[in-house]
Amino acid sequence: MDCYTCRNNELIDSLPARELVAADEHWRCAHAFDSALPGWLILVPRRHVTSIADLTDAEAASLGTWQVRLSRALRALSGCTKTYVVQFAEQEGFAHVHFHVVPRMPDLPDERRGPRIFGYLGVPEDDRFGEQQQDELATALRAQLDLG
Ligand SMILES: [Zn+2]
Repeated sequence: MDCYTCRNNELIDSLPARELVAADEHWRCAHAFDSALPGWLILVPRRHVTSIADLTDAEAASLGTWQVRLSRALRALSGCTKTYVVQFAEQEGFAHVHFHVVPRMPDLPDERRGPRIFGYLGVPEDDRFGEQQQDELATALRAQLDLG
C-alpha cells in the first residue's frame, strides 16, 4: 500500500515540525505540503482508515476536540474569521481519511470562498507556502494549542 499519510505516521518520532504540529494516540496534525495558504492544516488518523464510518468511537470522540482546538489556535495566530473543515480523501495515494482545517481570512476574495478555496491547494512548488515557513508556523501553533 502506497499511502503518504501512513508513511509519515510510521516516522512520527522523526518528523519535521510541519508534519507534526501536534498528535495524540489517535490523531496527527500536519501543515499541508502543497498549499499556497499559510496555516492550511491536515488532521489524520494514526492508522489507515479510508472512510469516516471506519473510525472507532475513541477516534471519533477526540475528533471534534481536535477540530475545535486547531481552529482556536489558527484564529489566535492568524486572525482568521473562521475555519473551513473539509474531508474528501479522493485523490490517488491520499485515500487515508484527512480533514482539511483551513483558516478563512477576513480578506479572502469572494471568488475563493467555500469549496473554491481548494484552488490554493496542489499549487506548483514556487507558489507554495515554504517548508521553513511551515515549520515556523507549526511551532507557533503547537505553542498556541491547549494540549492540557
Ligand atoms: Zn494510510
